[in-house]
Amino acid sequence: MQHNDVLEGCAGGEAVESCDVLIVGAGFAGMYMLHLARRLGLSAVVVETASGVGGTWFWNRYPGARCDVESMQYSYSFSEELQQEWHWSERYASQPEILAYANYVAMKFDLLRDVKFNTRVMRAAFQEEESRWLVSTDQGTQYRAKWCVMATGCLSAAQTPNILGLETFKGGIYHTGNWPHEGVALSGQNVGVIGTGSSGIQVIPELAKQANHLYVFQRTPNFSIPARNRAMDADYENSWKKNYAERRALARSMPAGILSQFGDKSALAVSAEERRQEYERRWAAGGTSFMAAYPDLLRNAEANDTAAEFVREKIRQAVQDPMVAEPLVPVDHPIGAKRICADTNYFETFNRENVTLVDIRANPIRDISPGGVTAGSDFYELGSLVLATGFDAITGALNKIEIVGRQGLALTEKWRDGPKTFLGLMSTGFPNLFIVTGPGSPSVLTNVIVAIEDNVKWIAECIAYLIDVDAEYIEATASAEETWMEEVRKTAEGTLYIQAKSWYLGVNVPGKPAVFMPYVGGLPTYQKICDDVANEGYRGFSIGKRPN
Ligand code: FAD
Ligand code: NAP
Repeated sequence: MQHNDVLEGCAGGEAVESCDVLIVGAGFAGMYMLHLARRLGLSAVVVETASGVGGTWFWNRYPGARCDVESMQYSYSFSEELQQEWHWSERYASQPEILAYANYVAMKFDLLRDVKFNTRVMRAAFQEEESRWLVSTDQGTQYRAKWCVMATGCLSAAQTPNILGLETFKGGIYHTGNWPHEGVALSGQNVGVIGTGSSGIQVIPELAKQANHLYVFQRTPNFSIPARNRAMDADYENSWKKNYAERRALARSMPAGILSQFGDKSALAVSAEERRQEYERRWAAGGTSFMAAYPDLLRNAEANDTAAEFVREKIRQAVQDPMVAEPLVPVDHPIGAKRICADTNYFETFNRENVTLVDIRANPIRDISPGGVTAGSDFYELGSLVLATGFDAITGALNKIEIVGRQGLALTEKWRDGPKTFLGLMSTGFPNLFIVTGPGSPSVLTNVIVAIEDNVKWIAECIAYLIDVDAEYIEATASAEETWMEEVRKTAEGTLYIQAKSWYLGVNVPGKPAVFMPYVGGLPTYQKICDDVANEGYRGFSIGKRPN
């Protein structure tokens, strides 16, 4: 099983390449999966639609794109040598630096020779007789693989809004999730931006510096905490590098896999003054660990409102004109129930003379015409339009592939009313098909690199076990899947997450079933369940022997 062999021709006359593991996607998940598959002595191929590695950080090249998990933590932990030799230049790494890191990893571990770039997987069909996946691409190539790993990303299917006349717009249209590599020259232009989620909040201050005038079309205001990004402090970097193993382990014991200072008392158990001091301290420190102040912020509406109100006050202080400040104040969801944003001068940007907030909740966009956008009764003449409108998250990239399991079952059909998996890792009816950070895993609520490493390691160990016991297939049982989905649903219902119209719930995509997709029980609880399942001989999975 050491080499990729070209086997026989297929129906279309193309050769079918055989490998042990076919991996879709060359982001951090696919890259690590390739590395571990090789360490098992398996042949593996990665198929990637982009022309390079890095996934999210390959595509999201908009000005201001940056991580909101500290650099010392948003990086692989699997190689001590790697984490010692790589130097991050800022507290929060910028997109170009993270992409450079992804490329460095690819070179260091010699990954590129097994990645087929510029190739999109269109179809993956399980061949029951031989227990193999037959994977077809838009380049006409086909692969036959024993195991297929979907490392397609939770935020990789950019979502273009369905706005009347969008296609008639004569200027440039740029989605933040698919930003042109050569950059975009916007200076001197009137620019419109639709969307004020994390991407919008990062790109808006940068666009404001370039545009003649920037119109921000906002439907829902968001909570954001100042990132307080800065150059990497050498002592801080050294303290991490000296204690990496210990700190990574500690981070993994925390709900989001991020080393943060967690408060242990209810927000309601302390005085208003003590609470304010705590929020002020965290606001001054910057970053999303603001939400770690009290353990009940995402469980108790009254507790949550103390933090929400604090941030609302900060927004009103930052924005000089109260008529502009008020529509920027989020009131329709608990703080943190949508992914909290981290910004650099976002609210202050609305004090600039060349920036106008257009409240499209009050005055909805009527249409887009060749020269601009009409919202309410006003027309905004634009040279370029930036769409920071997010993603068909968690299931989008998977559903774009025609995945056909046992007895001709299509994944899109099975997931018609919402995704169903066991642990986010496998879906019943789709043997030998693993998903990294799939629906039903905590991935998007965590430092995603940690979630990726844990999932990929679990998958690699599972494959090693299957080889050991000479098994031909593994499949999640229907009852294990049902029990897990119930657990995912119940856990979410105990929190305030379900009170926000977020992409976690899928409601940002017209027609997508409203099902809360991530597991909110925290990374350590999830990982213990995954480990217990494995240690108990893959409880909840049926494992078949090699046919004679
Ligand atoms: P991705 O990086 O999305 O890679 C998936 C790859 O699969 C892509 O390259 C895609 O082209 C490829 N692919 C998909 N479908 C196909 C197909 N059919 N055929 C071939 N190739 C395919 N997470 C954090 O923890 N902290 C952050 O601060 C953070 N910031 C983010 C900022 C932005 C702008 C975005 C969009 C996401 C951010 N995330 C963040 C989440 C981020 O997606 C993950 O941290 C991580 O990069 C995901 O890696 P991945 O390999 O799972 O997926
Ligand atoms: P998002 O959070 O889904 O935000 C999309 C924005 O577009 C929302 O403001 C939404 O408004 C608006 N929108 C969508 N369709 C619209 C329409 N038809 N008309 C008007 N407005 C519309 O997407 P995102 O900002 O790209 O972020 C997605 C996730 O990626 C984040 O939550 C985060 O996990 C990750 N990310 C992280 C960072 C970071 O700081 N590291 C940066 C970017 C992204 P409504 O709210 O009203 O729907």
